[in-house]
Amino acid sequence: MLSLDTSVENITRVGAATAKRLRTLGIEKAEDLLFYFPFRYDDFTRTTPIDKLLPGTSVNVIGVIELIQNRRSFRRRMYVTEALVSDGKESLKVVWFNQPFIGKSLKIGDRVSLAGKIEDDGGGLHMSAPAYEKLYNHPGLRPPLLGKEGMISAEAVHTQGLVPNYHLTQGITQKQLRFIIKQTVGLAADVTDWLPDDIRRKYRLIDLPKAILNIHFPKNVKNFDEARRRLSFNELFLLQLRAQLIRREIAASRAEEIGFNETETKKFVDSLPFKLTDSQRRSAWEMIKDLERGQPMSRLLEGDVGSGKTVVAALAILNVALAGRQSVLLAPTEILAQQHFTTLSKLFTGTQVKIGLVTASDKRMNNESGIMNQEENIKSGKLNSPFIIRNSEIIVGTHALIQEKVKFRNLALAVIDEQHRFGVDQRKTLLEKSGSGLVPHLLSMTATPIPRSLALALYGDLDISIIREMPAGRKKIITKIVPEDKRQSAYKFIRSQIESGRQVFVICPLIDMSDRSGAKSVKDEFRKLDKQVFPDLSIGMIHGRLKSAEKEKVMLEMLQGKIKILVSTSVVEVGVDVPNASIMMIEGAEHFGLAQLHQFRGRVGRSEHQSYCFLFSEIETEKSLKRLQALADNNDGLTLAKLDLKMRGAGEVYGTAQSGFPELKIASLFDYALMKEAREAALAIITDDPSLTEHPALLETTVRLEAKAHLD
Ligand code: ADP
Ligand code: MG
Repeated sequence: MLSLDTSVENITRVGAATAKRLRTLGIEKAEDLLFYFPFRYDDFTRTTPIDKLLPGTSVNVIGVIELIQNRRSFRRRMYVTEALVSDGKESLKVVWFNQPFIGKSLKIGDRVSLAGKIEDDGGGLHMSAPAYEKLYNHPGLRPPLLGKEGMISAEAVHTQGLVPNYHLTQGITQKQLRFIIKQTVGLAADVTDWLPDDIRRKYRLIDLPKAILNIHFPKNVKNFDEARRRLSFNELFLLQLRAQLIRREIAASRAEEIGFNETETKKFVDSLPFKLTDSQRRSAWEMIKDLERGQPMSRLLEGDVGSGKTVVAALAILNVALAGRQSVLLAPTEILAQQHFTTLSKLFTGTQVKIGLVTASDKRMNNESGIMNQEENIKSGKLNSPFIIRNSEIIVGTHALIQEKVKFRNLALAVIDEQHRFGVDQRKTLLEKSGSGLVPHLLSMTATPIPRSLALALYGDLDISIIREMPAGRKKIITKIVPEDKRQSAYKFIRSQIESGRQVFVICPLIDMSDRSGAKSVKDEFRKLDKQVFPDLSIGMIHGRLKSAEKEKVMLEMLQGKIKILVSTSVVEVGVDVPNASIMMIEGAEHFGLAQLHQFRGRVGRSEHQSYCFLFSEIETEKSLKRLQALADNNDGLTLAKLDLKMRGAGEVYGTAQSGFPELKIASLFDYALMKEAREAALAIITDDPSLTEHPALLETTVRLEAKAHLD
C-alpha cells in the first residue's frame, strides 16, 4: 500500500533507473513527488466538438479511432501515421511523423484524448502531431480522491484541462513524470495541514491536501489560483515565522557598543578620491546608528553592481577599528576576497588600520607581516591548529573562514558580501569565535535588486539600506542586439578593442551539448574562438564543472590580463571585478532572465573605458527581441526584474529560479498583498505563542525546514 513514506522505487512502474533519476531531482519518496510542483501548464481546457474546430487554435479533442495506419513516405523519407478520429458527429484527420509505434499502440475502436493545434493546409482541417492518450480507467491505480467535491476526476492526464509541465532531468519524460505523480497524488489526503485553522479561515485559504492535489491537476483556472495562493502563503508564512523568531533571539542578545568617531570618519571621507553619493551617505549613517546600540545590527545593504557598497562597509569597519575592535569581511570566492583585501588596503592607506587576508592559499597583511610573525603555521600555509588573529583590525576571507579554526581577539562586526541570508548557525559560530562573548554586528551586502517589500518578505529579520543611485560620471554601457549577419563585424570590433588593451567576456547558456535544447555551449564557442576566429589570442574558458582551484586560476589569469577573451557560463554572474574588461558578449541571450542579463552586463563598465554589451539570440521572434530590447533600453536592475516578470508567457507560472530567489519556489515575487498577510499572520502567532507550544504541527514543520536549510 502506498504511503507518504513509500520510497520511489516501490511505486508502480518506477524501476531502479527511474528512481535514480528522480533522486537527482530531489525526489526520494512519494511525499516528495507531491511537493514537486509544475512550473507551467498547457491549456487544454477547451474540449471541442470536431464540427466546431477552428484552424490555429490549441484544443483538446475526444473521440474514437475509426482508422489508423502507418505508411512510409519515400519522398520525405519518414514514417507517417495517419488516423481518423470521430466524436460521433464528425471525423478529424490526425497525423504523426516518425513515431511508428503510435500506429501499433492505438487501435481502431480505442477512445482517445488528443491535444494540439488545429491546422489547415488547404486540404481541410487536421491535427498535426498532437499529444495523445488512450482513455480507460487505469487498473490498480488509486484514483485521486475521486468524487470528492472540488477534486478532479477527469480520466485524461496529458491532454485535457490544465496539463502540468515539470522540470525534468535526462531520461525522464513529461508523460512519465505526470503518470507517476498522478498515481501518488491521492496521498495528498494524508498530508497534515499544519496551518492553524483560524489563520486559514481569516485569509480564505484552502486546505493543504486540496492545494497539493489542485496544483498538479487543476480542473480549471480558479482551482489553480486557489492552490497557488495557499502554497505561496505557506512559503511566505514560514519565511516570516523564521525571520520573526530570529529577530526575537537577536533583540534579546547583546553586542559591542561602537561609538561614532566623527572627526576620523570625516577625515577618511575627505581622503577618498571621489564624493560619496547621497545613498552611500545615508546607508553609512544608518549603520553607524545601529552600531551605537548595544543590540546586534542585522542589516542588508542593497545596491546595483558598481554602486559602491564596499566603501559604505568600510565606513562601518573604520568606526569599529577606531573603537579598538575587529571586523571580518567575507566573500564568496578567493579572488573576490583578494580583491576586497586590495581595495581595503588602498582605502585605509594613511590610517593605522591593519588588514589581514586569510584564505586557503594566501595569508597576507597590508602593512606588515603581523600575522605571519605570530603564527608559524600560517606562514607554511597550514591552518591546522587554532590561531588567534591579534594584530589586524580587519580580516578579509572567504565565507569558509567561519568553518575554519580561526579565533578572533574581539570581533565586533561581520560583513558578508554577496550572500543575502546569513544563517543563524553561522552567526552563532561567529559569536563563539568573537572572543568577547558578545554577538557581532552583521552587515550583508547584495547586488540583487529587491524591492523593499520583497526584501522584507524574504529577509524579515534584516533591516534594509538601499543604494539607489550610481556614482556620478559613469559611462552608460552601450547595449546592442546583434543580428547573426553582423557577427563578423562584432568580432572585428572585439579585435580592435583587444588591440587597444581591453578584455572580453563571452557568456553561453550551456557547458556542452549534452543538453538537447540546441543552445550554444561554452566548450563549442571556446573551440571556435580559439581555433578559428582568434587563433592568435589567448582565450580562456570557465564553467561550473571545473574544480574551484581551476576556476580560481582562470579568473586570476583574466584579472592579470593574460587571458583576452573569457568564455563562460553564468558563473561570472556574481563575480570578479575586471575593470579592464570592456565587452560583454552574450550568446543565446534568450535563455537568460532579464535580471540575470543585467548582472552579466554589470561585469563591464567598471572603469573609465567605454563598455559594450552585445546580445546574440538564436531565436528572433518579436517577443524575444522585445525582451532583449528592454535590456538595451533600461539600466536599472529593479525595473528590469519587474519587466522580466511581466513579459513572461502567461503559461509560465513561476520560473523564479532564474530570478535568483531560491526561497520562493511558487510565490510570486510581486504578490505584495499576500506577503503582507503572511507577515501579519506570522507576527500574530509569535506574539501569542512565542515558542509555538500550542501549535505542535507548525513547530514540527519549522524544525523540519530548519534542518533542511542546514543540509542545503
Ligand atoms: P559594488 O557595489 O558592486 O560592490 P564597488 O564597491 O566595488 O561596487 O564599487 C565600484 C567602483 O566604484 C569602485 O572602483 C569604487 O572605488 C567606485 N566608487 C564607489 N563609490 C563611488 C563614488 N561615490 N563616486 C565614484 N566612484 C565610486
Ligand atoms: Mg562588491
